[in-house]
Amino acid sequence: MAFKPANSIQDLQYFGEFGGVNPSISDSSTYTFLSAKTMFDTFEGNADGCYLYSRHSTPSNLYLGEALAAMEGTETANVSASGMGAITPVLMQLCGAGDHVVSSRTIYGGTYAFLKNFTPRFNIETSFVDITKLDVVEAAITKNTKVLYCESVSNPLLEVADIKGLAEIAKRHNLKLIVDNTFSPLSISPAKLGADVVIHSLTKFINGSSDTVGGVVCGTQEFINDLRNVNSGASMLLGSTMDSLRAASVLKNLRTLHIRMQQHSLNATYLAEKFENDGLKTVYPGLASHPSHELFTSMMNEKYGFGGMLTVDVGSLDKANELMELMQEKNLGYLAVSLGFYKTLFSAPGSSTSSEIPEEEQKEMGLSDGLIRFSIGLDADIERTYNMMRECMEKLNILEPEMA
Ligand SMILES: *Cc1c(COP(=O)(O)O)cnc(C)c1O
Repeated sequence: MAFKPANSIQDLQYFGEFGGVNPSISDSSTYTFLSAKTMFDTFEGNADGCYLYSRHSTPSNLYLGEALAAMEGTETANVSASGMGAITPVLMQLCGAGDHVVSSRTIYGGTYAFLKNFTPRFNIETSFVDITKLDVVEAAITKNTKVLYCESVSNPLLEVADIKGLAEIAKRHNLKLIVDNTFSPLSISPAKLGADVVIHSLTKFINGSSDTVGGVVCGTQEFINDLRNVNSGASMLLGSTMDSLRAASVLKNLRTLHIRMQQHSLNATYLAEKFENDGLKTVYPGLASHPSHELFTSMMNEKYGFGGMLTVDVGSLDKANELMELMQEKNLGYLAVSLGFYKTLFSAPGSSTSSEIPEEEQKEMGLSDGLIRFSIGLDADIERTYNMMRECMEKLNILEPEMA
């Protein structure tokens, strides 16, 4: 039977301690014990249901983690203070000095910078490859490789990873496949396709209100226990813990994710089709012209569509900047990084979110100067939005005025 991620979230039942329909928020950094023995056992990790200290876990964080684990179909999950606060401990937990990572070359700028500039200080090396070519991925694996790393839909080029194919390679070489699923929550369920660990930046679609950063690692109970281990767990020791008040607020926003994703996808599909029809170089996984359209279709949980992200190439950085400023002036969205907001957000990734990637490498991977990344909002009347965007493009001579 097909996996239904929104049903899995909905089927969880929480009550507050006074019967509240939302779980009570645990507003404490530390927890009392009735017996000293239980405190000792908790330190040793042998006292289920006991809380010790909020960097380790809190009831509010566990509620949110449980809901996200249900969404991804994993045994459990650990929430963190940011997406990077989820990604970096996972890599540090799985890799030590002398180990090697094979990573997609089109990944979030911060993750790229961590693997390229930071982990070499610990003698962890990374090979960056074209993740869409499975033979290239497999050829990059060495005897020291521990991890295969990718994003289901990549930032910012919207390349799609063949998660089943990558999982087979990972299994064959005894590697862990880590998938950052930030761009495609609900649409793609990487763990169901064979990923060992699924990561999200909750900052984006999942929280959806651009009011906080947050992250999550979804995986097996064993792996999450390892991350939280008081003596050797990277999440516990590096300390990027989410605050309980924030966990409660993210959980409430998660309740509407399925509705929001459908609207983001609907609106993005409408605009992508129109832009492509207008002759603009448009990249959107929902377009038949996207090189991985079939692959995405074969992996997706249909209801949620192809997501809210699309890119348009308007030729040059100057044109891109002019267009974004004009669209902001017309209140069509904000010139801002990040994604998943109710309002459309746009930025030129080459000079912003992917600026960590050297210019040479940007060119090689097809990240051109005139590229605008759109996170399409929840606009109620997308036809009106399109018409207004078109007017902006005509004014700047990006598009010819339409003949009557
Ligand atoms: C934003 C983002 C991250 C980093 O998340 P933060 O919450 O900003 O730390 C990681 N991966 C992807 C794909 C992202 O878009």
